[in-house]
Amino acid sequence: MTKSLSEAFDSSSFRKTGYKLIDIISDYLELVKTGKSSFPVLPYKTPSEMYSFWEDDFQNSENSGIEDFFKIIIENSIHLHNPKYLGHQVPPVLPLAALTDFLSSFLNNATGVYEMGSAGIVLERFLIKLLAKIIGMDKDADGFLTSGGTLGNLTALLAVRQIASDNDIWREGINSSNNPTFLISGESHYSVERALHIMGIGNNGIVKVPVNDNHKLDIKTVEKFYNKALDDNKRVVCLVGNACSTSLGLYDPLNELADFCKEQHLWFHVDAAHGAPAVFTKKYKALISGIEKADSVVIDFHKMMMQPALVTAVLFKDSKHSYQAFSQKAAYLWEESEEDWYNLGKRTFECTKDTMSLKVYATIRTYGTKLFEDNVTQLFELGQKFADLIEKRNNFELAAWPESNIVCYRYKEKNDDEEKINDLNKKIRQLLIEEGEFFIVQTEINDKIFFRTCLMNTFTTEKVLISLLDRIEALVSIINPVKQ
Ligand SMILES: *Cc1c(COP(=O)(O)O)cnc(C)c1O
Repeated sequence: MTKSLSEAFDSSSFRKTGYKLIDIISDYLELVKTGKSSFPVLPYKTPSEMYSFWEDDFQNSENSGIEDFFKIIIENSIHLHNPKYLGHQVPPVLPLAALTDFLSSFLNNATGVYEMGSAGIVLERFLIKLLAKIIGMDKDADGFLTSGGTLGNLTALLAVRQIASDNDIWREGINSSNNPTFLISGESHYSVERALHIMGIGNNGIVKVPVNDNHKLDIKTVEKFYNKALDDNKRVVCLVGNACSTSLGLYDPLNELADFCKEQHLWFHVDAAHGAPAVFTKKYKALISGIEKADSVVIDFHKMMMQPALVTAVLFKDSKHSYQAFSQKAAYLWEESEEDWYNLGKRTFECTKDTMSLKVYATIRTYGTKLFEDNVTQLFELGQKFADLIEKRNNFELAAWPESNIVCYRYKEKNDDEEKINDLNKKIRQLLIEEGEFFIVQTEINDKIFFRTCLMNTFTTEKVLISLLDRIEALVSIINPVKQ
């Protein structure tokens, strides 16, 4: 072994560096969660500035140790534990989950094949069964963890394509006589449409059902589009609903949609990547009632369950369906056998598969699912308070009354035309980002630009939200000084 290899694996220097890293992160956590850190929530650099910054770093790397690197990378990150982080649906990570993930990456047990990751694989099954039970599915339900909601939707829909066809689409491919049609919500996450295109479904097989004035699917419109598709000789196999939608955080009427699918023998897929954890709460559980009737469901742990990315559950009401996304055989990996649940690679995209279950299990083992209930309840309640604050101010308009922790709104002065309002809101957001004090995102709903605030952060208070609205008003008077 060379000297450098032996040094790289030296346990005492690992111990030293490890303690230092934990010290750095703990100090950071203390500062950032109270909003007292000296750096902004988003230390904004343009992409080319960021690139030159790291070019310089690489050139000077000989003069600076790994500890410096740890600190520099923190300084150049967006700070999700900062109470003014109000952006995308990515949470401030639970320290315990991050620690467990670190252990997991060190052990590097992969969960595709049983021998390579037996503990993680069994814990994965344990979590899947627990989650299925909590959402109300019976013990026939089954599934697996995969790398994100995007891949989760693709895997579930691949299974639908195979199950809902008389012929073996996996082997024969799609042709004009067997092309299945999927009804999806006009508010579906882009990954749903992307999955269908990857699957070779094409525009012909994708029917987007527009949402109603409340931005949800309603059964009348679903029926209308379903019948129209049948009139057009389409072979409709599946309906995809949201719990909740990504842009506005609103829940589709799952019970009605599930009943409709049952009557028409359609597969019901629920994209609950964001909103499923409502199920842990007493207060908001009703929003997601009916999810237990879905044939397949996708749930992200790395959103409101505060896990480091990525870990997503794909659940199937009927265990055997969880084996049908890939009807492919890889003889060198698996012995020919029945649907062995412990060789997860048969059911998931990943071959070398990250051990995603450990961090989730450690969280539940330590804090119980009560922690999820506390988090979701607090965040959803804050969503209601924020909507109240917005309603009370002149010149602010909600896109919809929120049901979850996603709140969309815009600044709008009377008599301004839509184009002007859009321009103003885009400018405000750009200035907010560049200032770096707050981080929010924007979305477009019916050609109108709205600010989109995801309350992902357990440290965010009403006071923070008031100061955000104040800051938006102040920016308007900077952008439009004459009018004020
Ligand atoms: C976040 C989200 C996704 C995408 O999940 P990733 O884990 O980011 O791949 C899909 N659908 C919905 C409804 C989401 O909110």
